[in-house]
Amino acid sequence: MAAERLQKILARAGVASRRASEALIAAGRVTVNGRIALVGESADPVTDLIAVDGAHLASALPVEHFAVHKPAGYLSSAHDERGRPSVVELLGEASGSRLWPAGRLDVDSEGLMLLTNDGAWANRVLHPRYGMEREYAVLIDSEPSARAMRALLEGVELDDGPARLLAAEIAAPPEEVDRDPDEQGGWLRVRIGEGRRREVRRLFAAVGHQVRRLVRTRLGPLTVSGLRAGEWRPLAEREVQALAGARPRVATPGRRAPLNVAIDGPSGSGKSTVGHALAQRIGATFVDTGLMYRALTLAALERGIGANDGSDLARLAREVKITVRRPRREQTDRRETVLLDGRDVTREARTPRVDRAVSSVSRHAEVRAAMLDVQRQAARRGDTVMVGRDIGTVVLPEATLKVFLTAAASVRADRRAAEMGRPDRRDRYLAEIRDRDAADTERDVAPLRKAVGALVLDAGELDVPACVEAIVAHLPARS
Ligand code: C5P
Repeated sequence: MAAERLQKILARAGVASRRASEALIAAGRVTVNGRIALVGESADPVTDLIAVDGAHLASALPVEHFAVHKPAGYLSSAHDERGRPSVVELLGEASGSRLWPAGRLDVDSEGLMLLTNDGAWANRVLHPRYGMEREYAVLIDSEPSARAMRALLEGVELDDGPARLLAAEIAAPPEEVDRDPDEQGGWLRVRIGEGRRREVRRLFAAVGHQVRRLVRTRLGPLTVSGLRAGEWRPLAEREVQALAGARPRVATPGRRAPLNVAIDGPSGSGKSTVGHALAQRIGATFVDTGLMYRALTLAALERGIGANDGSDLARLAREVKITVRRPRREQTDRRETVLLDGRDVTREARTPRVDRAVSSVSRHAEVRAAMLDVQRQAARRGDTVMVGRDIGTVVLPEATLKVFLTAAASVRADRRAAEMGRPDRRDRYLAEIRDRDAADTERDVAPLRKAVGALVLDAGELDVPACVEAIVAHLPARS
């Protein structure tokens, strides 16, 4: 929105008459973006944060916040001299006030956008300091080579400085994205932390690929789930707060960055045993993300939510509180405890009925997006060893060290039979392991993959202490 004289904005918001508002400005009682305003100054009532005696003007207006799935060809600004349609028009008469997009998408890009009349909120949501992560489904002309993928993840030089993707994987777009039956090329899912001008397109161009479609599917904690092109919905209060509450990513000066080790690998490869031993050895917190997915699965089973119902499961993941607790120091025989809304469900989370359902629960994109926050919260506490299926690729792409722990299925089946004291069930265990491997590797969303640059260890050949030693040997020296 165009800048206007400050006294005019104050008068319209009902603070005081224009003249009296001028006196307030002269008295130094009005601030714009935290700085004392000058007489005669102009401001933008939508994007500037205006306050009188410390109280923000926005609070005097009814605020509205919407999510919308912008189709290609729509502009994200409200006006266009050429008369092209604007994303604001999609809402028609639904809103009582004038809305403005918080953030932009190019005219040819699609996907999730925010519309609001709440300037203070928009400022906060968009501020680069809060580094809100963005996820996109990208259709590119052809599948990129491993080399191109590595370059995108490690960083390439663009005309406005270096840039990189936080994660990239081959994955079909979510069902909210309409597909062209004749489409050519391949879909990827990528994540970036900034959102500079045409950044994703420029990154791909830098490695020789052309982006055919670019659809934003997630903005921080909010996904496009449930919104097809052209559809919109008001945000729930919880979502409005979650978007504004994205934590700053600025490291506290004077403190070293936490050390994070990501360990991925197939079911039964010994990730938990190795991860736990490693965490003890280096004094880090151990986080078993499989246990988190198991606790969620248990909650779903208890509430009768079906494993196919991605939206309900994602809602459940946001509603329940899953906490993984470290054992007390004296409990050397115990691993971590998982709490579901404060209830200890460690034992129930490992029962066969959870075993059977967990892969189906964890295959939904929306569920994984909701669980991402829970997992990252767990890594914020300090040095962390986190084990799972997508830790190095998705959850902690900036981990200090990524490890891929593998072992032949037959070795894993032998071990499980020995662990359970049931040599007679060895073949059954082998079949279960193979099924689980297939489910985890073949799913569209966050399939089990070795992260680029991961240290690969064969737990069939190395025992637990040898794996721990190999990992420690690859960690940076600490002062
Ligand atoms: O590691 P665990 O076998 O306990 O994990 C149970 C299941 O949870 C896995 O088979 C997988 O489907 C899912 N999982 C996942 N992503 C993770 C951890 C576990 O999809 N990071």
